[in-house]
Amino acid sequence: MREIIIIGSGPAGFTAAIYAARAGLKPLLLASSVEAGGELMNTTEVENFPGFPEGIQGPALMMKLQEQAEKFGTEVVLDDVTSVKLDGDVKVVETGYSGTFEARSVIFATGSAYRKLGLPDEERLSGRGVSWCATCDGFFFKTKTIAVVGGGDSAMEEATFLTRFAEKVYVVHRKDTLRASKIMQDRAFLNDKIEFVWNSEVVGINGENAVEGLTLRDTRTGLQSELPVQGLFVAIGNDPRVHLVHNQLDLTADGTIAVDGRSSRTNLPGVFAAGDVIDAHYRQAATAAASGTVAALDAEEYLAALDQVEHESPAKLAADLVAAE
Ligand SMILES: Cc1cc2nc3c(=O)[nH]c(=O)nc-3n(C[C@H](O)[C@H](O)[C@H](O)COP(=O)(O)OP(=O)(O)OC[C@H]3O[C@@H](n4cnc5c(N)ncnc54)[C@H](O)[C@@H]3O)c2cc1C
Repeated sequence: MREIIIIGSGPAGFTAAIYAARAGLKPLLLASSVEAGGELMNTTEVENFPGFPEGIQGPALMMKLQEQAEKFGTEVVLDDVTSVKLDGDVKVVETGYSGTFEARSVIFATGSAYRKLGLPDEERLSGRGVSWCATCDGFFFKTKTIAVVGGGDSAMEEATFLTRFAEKVYVVHRKDTLRASKIMQDRAFLNDKIEFVWNSEVVGINGENAVEGLTLRDTRTGLQSELPVQGLFVAIGNDPRVHLVHNQLDLTADGTIAVDGRSSRTNLPGVFAAGDVIDAHYRQAATAAASGTVAALDAEEYLAALDQVEHESPAKLAADLVAAE
């Protein structure tokens, strides 16, 4: 049986693996088959991860994290976890192709997925004008004209934040009223750089190598129009990847895995969670990495305490005495 299994290969999973491996726990990291490396595999330049003053491409950063985790003895398996059994002392993790694994502890670092519009050119132009994260990419849109899609708090927050960089920010919304809280709406309405495009949905993202414009459809008349922009921020929600743990782990109202305070401890002993799957707010590579650190340290502490109990149990003491004779 293994000491620790880490599920997920984003910044949280690999950082947890680096710490666990350096603590001698020989972690197994189940990295997913086609989505190994996490969300940063979908982006180009990352300029805000500490230690890279020149910036680094997202996939290159993830390769470095994997290399560092493997260097200290992490075993990385490119497979998807299909089910887990988390109650009891032995955690059972089943994968698509590589069989079933058992461990004394598990760290969930399965991340979260930004909701997509589902348009054909969305993926192709991701990192080339299409973004899901203003904090990550706003800086690249200095003096540009951009659009934000969405009508909730996060769309208003992204739009308002983006006016620090962009010359003009259109907010494209399917209806003529917003879901966002009044205070967030008022802030956006008062901002001179923000213009609302009501009753409209994006049906096309145009541009060869970078976003050059959007095709909009009026949701009442069906008429189409063009909106020339150099960037599109999709702010229509985010889904923590928790399908494996429904009915096993407690979740928060935001749908993230619930943890105890600043720790990574879930409601089940020996089960820890880190990164965007526990974070409805910050969702950055550096915060995910920090959270992975916390999870590895919590797991280390848990395993050490288990060893202590085992060592001190009367049955174990008796067995030790017999063995010593
Ligand atoms: C386009 C884009 C650009 C971004 N740019 C930046 C940026 O410039 N700077 C920044 O700080 N942040 C950026 N972010 C945010 C950053 O990527 C995330 O905050 C960070 O990746 C979260 O790390 P994580 O380890 O929690 O999860 P993730 O990176 O999402 O990794 C989770 C991993 O778990 C795997 N997984 C899920 N379920 C299973 C399963 N059942 N079995 C096995 N594996 C599974 C997934 O496939 C994935 O590999 C960006 C995000 C996006 C989408």
